[in-house]
Amino acid sequence: MLKAKEEGLIGGIGLSSHSLPMYIEGMNALPIDLILIWCNCLEDMYLPEIHQAIFPFAREHHIGITAMKPLADGFLYRSPRQAMRYAYSNQPDVLVCGMNTEKHVSDAVESICKGPMTDAEREQWLTDAPELGSYICRQCGECSGSLMELFRLEGYADRQMIDYLEHDPADYALRLRLSGWFAQKEYAAAVFREINWSAVKLLEDSEAVSCPYNIDVPRKVRLSLAKLSGENPDII
Ligand code: SF4
Repeated sequence: MLKAKEEGLIGGIGLSSHSLPMYIEGMNALPIDLILIWCNCLEDMYLPEIHQAIFPFAREHHIGITAMKPLADGFLYRSPRQAMRYAYSNQPDVLVCGMNTEKHVSDAVESICKGPMTDAEREQWLTDAPELGSYICRQCGECSGSLMELFRLEGYADRQMIDYLEHDPADYALRLRLSGWFAQKEYAAAVFREINWSAVKLLEDSEAVSCPYNIDVPRKVRLSLAKLSGENPDII
């Protein structure tokens, strides 16, 4: 790639990966011109390093940011306009989104023309988004640091897709498909084993939390522990 750039065969080098550490490593090791990276409200909830580390690093080194997956691989299909404006408000240089129909294109254009979401709109949407519902942790700070980390790891395991709540068959099939998209389950389980949390303490802590998004926190802890330890979640 470097030779091709030197010889003028390519204008620049871009980087994209399903592994977050690869971004900083890659931008450190190579003269990267552009990254292509996730940008949506689902991933923001359990991959804060995208906005806390990778975006600032790219900005500091004058590396362009192309945001992808504003609809979280289709998960946010009920809220495409809000999803687009949310992604736009993360201030990427370019926002790309797969579209299948002319209506998708006109909806996208219309929503982007309204401009990025304000902070108040983002906050409101995190409350209202039907897809996030009463299961996906918004990392609001009401839980202990350990609980929030547990839920982020659950995100690595299956993007918090499998919630054992009632869904229509198509929605369930979509969740099942998206749950293994990044294949990070083993990584999440390894980190979980290393931390060696006390399940009793996590459950005790969870009993005291009143979640502003109506998440049943003790139930979510039991499910997360089962997913990460490999136990059968049917016991929940
Ligand atoms: S209170 Fe709810 S949204 Fe906030 S950190 Fe706990 S589970 Fe997540």
